[in-house]
Amino acid sequence: MKAYTAGLRESRVPTVRAEVDLGALRQNLRAVRAAAGGVPVLGVVKANAYGHGVELVAPVLAAEGVRAFAVANVSEGIALRALGIDGAVLVFTPPLPQELPAYVAYGLDVAVTSPVVAEAVLAHPGPFRVHVEVDTGMHRLGLSPAETPDVVRRLQAAPHVEIVALWTHLATADEDDLAFSREQLACLEAVLAATGGLLPVHVANSGALAQLPEAVRQRALVRPGGLLYGIPATEIVAARVPVRPVMRLVSRVVHVQTVPAGESVSYGRTWRAAQPTRIATVAAGYADGLPRQLSNRGRAGVRGRLVPYAGAVCMDLLMLDLGPPDGPLGDVEPGEEVVLLGPGGPPALDLAEAAGTVTYALTAGLTARVVRVATEAAPGAGARNFRAPPDLSSV
Ligand SMILES: *Cc1c(COP(=O)(O)O)cnc(C)c1O
Repeated sequence: MKAYTAGLRESRVPTVRAEVDLGALRQNLRAVRAAAGGVPVLGVVKANAYGHGVELVAPVLAAEGVRAFAVANVSEGIALRALGIDGAVLVFTPPLPQELPAYVAYGLDVAVTSPVVAEAVLAHPGPFRVHVEVDTGMHRLGLSPAETPDVVRRLQAAPHVEIVALWTHLATADEDDLAFSREQLACLEAVLAATGGLLPVHVANSGALAQLPEAVRQRALVRPGGLLYGIPATEIVAARVPVRPVMRLVSRVVHVQTVPAGESVSYGRTWRAAQPTRIATVAAGYADGLPRQLSNRGRAGVRGRLVPYAGAVCMDLLMLDLGPPDGPLGDVEPGEEVVLLGPGGPPALDLAEAAGTVTYALTAGLTARVVRVATEAAPGAGARNFRAPPDLSSV
C-alpha cells in the first residue's frame, strides 16, 4: 500500500478542469445589482452553484454583501452552513415532515408550497421562517390562488411561524413574449390583495430581472442564478444585462492522428473523413457531463479557433476535426489545451443549442470528476486573462 500513497495527491490532478473566474462572478453581481435597482439579491446557488462549485461561489457572494441564498434541498442548505454562510437560506423544494427538524437545526427557510406542507409546519414546534409560494400558472409547485389566503391566515396566527414573503415563479420570463409572465404577475397581485396586501413579495429570476421591471421594483428581493454565472438562458436576457461567463471548461489533447479519406471516427461510424484529416482525441466525455447529443454537433476551442467534434462523444474521450494535415492546426500535439466551454471555446448558448438543451443544464450537468479551480482575472482585463493553470509537469 505504501507505494501508492504518493499517488493520492496526483489523483487530484484534473483531466477536465472547470476554471471559475471569481472576478467575473463579482462583476456579474454588480451588473445584477444595477439591474435590480436597489432591491436586494438572493443568490441562487442550487445544484452546486449551477455546477460552478458552491464552495467557490457562495463565500465570494457573501463577502460581496449577499445576505440571502437559495438552494434546492436540505442537504445543499446544510452544505452552505458548513461553508460558514450565516445569512438566510431558502430551500426551494418543499420539506417532507421528517426533514423539518433539520430546517430548525440549520436555520433554513421553508418553502410552503401546499396546504399539506403548511399543516406539517403548523404541527411542528419550529420556529420557522417560511416563504409562501403561489402557483400562478407554472404548475410545478405552490398553493393555488384560491387556497392561499386561508393558509396565510393560519400561518400568521401561529406564534412559531414567521412569514418572510409571498412568492411565485415565472414560466417564460426568459422569452420574447412576456404576456404570460404579466398574467402570472397579475395573478400574484390579486392573491396578495386577498391576503391583506401587506406581505413582502419576490418574483424575479434572471429573465424577469432582465426584462420585467414590474417583477423587480418594490419587491423584497430578486432571485437570479444564471445571470450571476454569466450563462443567460436566452439571447434576449444576454442582451439586456452585461455579464460574462464565470466558467471556462478545459481539457487536453491526448492523441493525434491523420485519418485517411473515407475512414470513420468513433462508435457507430457516424463521422467520415472527406479528405485526409487530423483528428485530435481529447480527454473529456459524457462521464464528465458533456452531453452525448454533442456528437458531430459540438465545437471546441483549440489555439483560439473553434473546431467541430468528429463522431460520437464517448464516456471519457471525444474527437475533434483539426482539418487537413497542412492546415493551421495540423501540428497540434498531445498535451495542448482544449477549451470545451467558455472564453477561448464555444459560448454556453451555442453549445446548449447544439446539444438541444439549455445553458444551465450544461454547467449543472458537469460531474464530480470535473475539478473546479478558482481563477481571478485582473480587474478590467479581458475574459481570457486567466492566472496560469496548475503546473502539471511535476507529476
Ligand atoms: C432556479 C430558480 C431561480 C433562478 O433562476 P435563473 O433563471 O437561474 O435566474 C429562481 N427561482 C426559483 C424558484 C428557481 O427554481
